[in-house]
Amino acid sequence: LTRPPYAPLGADTLPDRLWHRPELTRLLGPPAQWRVREVGDGNLNLVFIVEGRDGSLVVKQALPYARVVGESWPMSLDRAFFEYEASLRLGARDPGRMPTLHLFDREQALQVMEHLTPHIILRKGLIAGTRYPALGEHLGHFLARTLFRGSDWAMETAHRKADLALFAGNVELCGITEDLFFTDPFFDCPRNRHNPALDAEVATVRADRALKLAALRLKARFCTGAETLLHGDFHTGSVMVSAQDSRVIDAEFATYGPMGFDIGSLLANLWMAAFSQEGLRPGDADARAYRRWIRDLAAQIWRVFTDEFARLWRTERAGILGGHDLFEAQSDREGAEQALAARLAAIWHDTLGFAGLEMYRRVLGLAHIAEFEAIGDEAARGACERRALRLGRALAVTPERFADVAAVNALAVELD
Ligand code: ADP
Ligand code: MG
Ligand code: MG
Ligand code: MG
Repeated sequence: LTRPPYAPLGADTLPDRLWHRPELTRLLGPPAQWRVREVGDGNLNLVFIVEGRDGSLVVKQALPYARVVGESWPMSLDRAFFEYEASLRLGARDPGRMPTLHLFDREQALQVMEHLTPHIILRKGLIAGTRYPALGEHLGHFLARTLFRGSDWAMETAHRKADLALFAGNVELCGITEDLFFTDPFFDCPRNRHNPALDAEVATVRADRALKLAALRLKARFCTGAETLLHGDFHTGSVMVSAQDSRVIDAEFATYGPMGFDIGSLLANLWMAAFSQEGLRPGDADARAYRRWIRDLAAQIWRVFTDEFARLWRTERAGILGGHDLFEAQSDREGAEQALAARLAAIWHDTLGFAGLEMYRRVLGLAHIAEFEAIGDEAARGACERRALRLGRALAVTPERFADVAAVNALAVELD
């Protein structure tokens, strides 16, 4: 019995390829009635929505190359395996926040998962100016639970080390982050592109040694600071939202790294979304208040994160970094609290740096963000992007200026 070799799915061929899988027929009903549409708007993979008599599902399949560039950029199919393995772990660490997984086929590099509906990508909701009352709590909890529970502060160390070894295999996607995030934006990399209105800023960056030193310092943190299993691509395009619900998708960049990486990626995207409002909705009476809502959301996510992280520290701390033998076992509760404060301060410091670099890569690197791209007028777009670069530089080069998230929001207001 030989299994068919890998072949990419198409909307027309999907029913013929998957009709015999009980995981699909059980939830969709008879294959003759399936309707398939391709919805992938991402950079890398194929995504299909399959609707049947009894329900709908999402099928995501990796391609042997990066979709955004084409076959000239080959890319390992194994990323589907790492996405699946990471999704299982992140989903278990904060139940209900990832789509339910129904099937994984390593050979075909495909997974079948819950169709999130009526959810939309958060980035689109932010462009439309929609408020999501539960979002800050959901994302703050998700960050605290996944980052804490995937670390040596929580896991049994042999188990944690085995996971570290497993995800070390995601070397190719991790390498994309290493290049695109930490190196490309800071030299004349052919993959880069930028708004011509920012030519002067680009020239400044090329000569900015302090910024490059910060980028290299943060790259070292990312490459060597294997604190926990990160989502690895945690921006507002990897969150789907409805009025009440928030979900996290697209964990293929998962890798062991520093806790502040996921937090910084997300917060940077919120600060950029706020900066984009004036360009996206000039003259809109709500744009000013909405900017404030986004900044408040960033502050809330950090606050919920720290509260939940502290709760987990006090109730679930274990593993080789638990430190109970040094503190609780000596009736020194205050020592454990000081260790917590030091851990949160270190995460905050990293968060600032990674947030700063995320802003650079989204303005000067390969992968830009829809909020800025949707501003048609180059000068207006440049004005918004320039604010992101200013804030980004301050966060990456002088993180000590920002004692807390309120200090970042204050500079964002000043620049806006
Ligand atoms: P990529 O890795 O190519 O970026 P994503 O996992 O981000 O792929 O998915 C691409 C798009 O497909 C998302 O932006 C979203 O619109 C849609 N999508 C992905 N997963 C789901 C899902 N479970 N339910 C509904 N839509 C989804
Ligand atoms: Mg994606
Ligand atoms: Mg992506
Ligand atoms: Mg992806």
